[in-house]
Amino acid sequence: MLLTITTTHYPATDLGYLLHKNPARLQTIDVAYGQAYVFYPEATPERCTAALLLDIDPIGLVRTHRGPAGEGFALEQYVNDRPYVASSFLSAALAKAFNTALNGTCKDRPELPDTLLPLEATVAALPAAGPEQLRRLFEPLGYAIETEAHPLDPTEPAWGDSRYVTLRLRHPALRLGELLSHLYVLVPVLDRGDKHYWISQEEVEKLLRRGGEWLPRHPEREFITRRYLRFAEYVNPTLERLLVGEEPEAGEEPAEVPADAAQHAPAAADPAENAVDPPSPVAANLPTAKRNLHDLRLDRVAAEIRRLGAKRVLDLGCGEGKLTRRLLSIPQVEHVLALDVSWRELQRAQERLHVAEMSPRQRERLTLAQGSLLYHDPRLAGYDAAAVVEVIEHLDESRLAAFEQVVFARARPGAVFVTTPNADYNQRYETLAAGQFRHQDHRFEWTRAEFAAWAAGVAGRHGYRLRLEPLGPEDADVGAPSQLAVFEAE
Ligand code: SAH
Repeated sequence: MLLTITTTHYPATDLGYLLHKNPARLQTIDVAYGQAYVFYPEATPERCTAALLLDIDPIGLVRTHRGPAGEGFALEQYVNDRPYVASSFLSAALAKAFNTALNGTCKDRPELPDTLLPLEATVAALPAAGPEQLRRLFEPLGYAIETEAHPLDPTEPAWGDSRYVTLRLRHPALRLGELLSHLYVLVPVLDRGDKHYWISQEEVEKLLRRGGEWLPRHPEREFITRRYLRFAEYVNPTLERLLVGEEPEAGEEPAEVPADAAQHAPAAADPAENAVDPPSPVAANLPTAKRNLHDLRLDRVAAEIRRLGAKRVLDLGCGEGKLTRRLLSIPQVEHVLALDVSWRELQRAQERLHVAEMSPRQRERLTLAQGSLLYHDPRLAGYDAAAVVEVIEHLDESRLAAFEQVVFARARPGAVFVTTPNADYNQRYETLAAGQFRHQDHRFEWTRAEFAAWAAGVAGRHGYRLRLEPLGPEDADVGAPSQLAVFEAE
């Protein structure tokens, strides 16, 4: 197994500083089940190549029961591809040999890790399902790729090519740490033979640490997460943590985290808010006060969508699917895409909407999807209307510009309905201390003026007409408890 990394950045021998490996010396590093060697086949100011050669001991693998299970044939434990192919062993060796570069640090030349370099990497003996798969994985990261097929046996051309290829990646301007993190995650993803090696919660932390920067935006993030973890129960909670941009556990050795990573997910639908629904004299006199505030919002938005005649509708941040249920009861609605970042909420939605018991026709009307509103998602294009009910206040205020791009610039539904609490009203909640939010996961709560200013900006920037409405019984001084912005494409 051989990995080479080449740069033509001047002086190219800076690669030695970056990798923390002297170009003049051959270095040997002990890794699990073998040895890794780092050496430089060329090291001039114009061009420098570092090579990582991995020598795995197949007998060592067998002794420690980490080799293939041996169900194939009698000698499979001894005659197999493990010592030769690029696999999770390469990732482990990479992390050990080039630890500082992978972490983006360089003691001697602190500016170097952030320098964008022209980089080329070659990985020999990569098991891949074909060049198309390699393109899907590497091209979205900005690489130009070339693959070289290898015949199974050069003396038997009729046998055709083996499933192992040599992959050459070229990037015009990339940080070295990024290249290493891409390889660290994607090489094991390609290796289907690597069963049962990746099974611990620790791997989740490694994936979050190495992939956190780029994986959420990668169009193949689900495939990559599933293949990297190879253990279904971790996949969706991990995807959720990646999509909300959660930092991995700090420290060199990842600490154990609770198996149910989904517990970090924000809870749905603001129960606290309903719990503190005001015993206000104004509200008590109005018929709407009998319904809780949340039902009122959902009914209002569903009514607007019905009035609009929308056929294809997005329920963004759908939670357990309370709005989706209302939307599916509108005959004109042909399809609902209900999206949430939280796997737990989606599971709940699946149960509450009785998806398993739906008729095939009903089922075709609904798609439940995991995704984040902070990353462009092509699945969201082509809809007549989008509802974003009590969701924006769960996003960090600094990420609202990304949300705006995803929904109003890229997905561009015909109409968008956004609801959020009215912070002016909070003083009417007796149990809510001044400055306190209605729900622990709220990142902000806006006054009517703040919401109006944001909504007007969005409408103006993206060509939508805007209408603002109070939601719930109105108080003369502080307005209604909740507020709705209706955006209609011009
Ligand atoms: N709209 C639903 C749920 C509101 S609670 C209702 O009105 O009943 C807020 C929801 O937003 C939660 O389900 C939460 O998981 C989801 N959410 C939070 N951040 C998100 C993000 N970045 N992308 C998509 N959904 C998100």
